[in-house]
Amino acid sequence: MEIEVKKLNQQKKYNGTFSFLYEADDDLVTIPFAKFAEAVKTEGAYEILEDLKVHIQANVTFTVTGLCTRCMEPAEAQVTTTIDEVFLTQDDGESYTYQKGVIDLTEAVRDAILDAMPFKLLCREDCPGIEYDE
Ligand SMILES: [Zn+2]
Repeated sequence: MEIEVKKLNQQKKYNGTFSFLYEADDDLVTIPFAKFAEAVKTEGAYEILEDLKVHIQANVTFTVTGLCTRCMEPAEAQVTTTIDEVFLTQDDGESYTYQKGVIDLTEAVRDAILDAMPFKLLCREDCPGIEYDE
């Protein structure tokens, strides 16, 4: 998931869009017994600003599959979250940075996934849980 800022800047492509598929590690899924159903999709736009600062806005969409936390039947959740960050060439202590003219979005995408990870999976919103026979 790389954006070649130096090259784009030389080509005067100061604005543009990108789309990446990312095979994320299942250790990003903090829900018990769940994993990614498919590659994480990141689609967005960049804008190269002064001093080679780069504004990145993207939607990150992932699907988690596993077991319903209440009834243990199969369950799935699709989550879309956003990245809205300015990447700098020099570290200011809080922004993302990039080196050698190339932005690697992996860290920002992983952070976005972790922030948006649901706490549980439900097979349906009103799942009553395991129903025991009396
Ligand atoms: Zn359920």
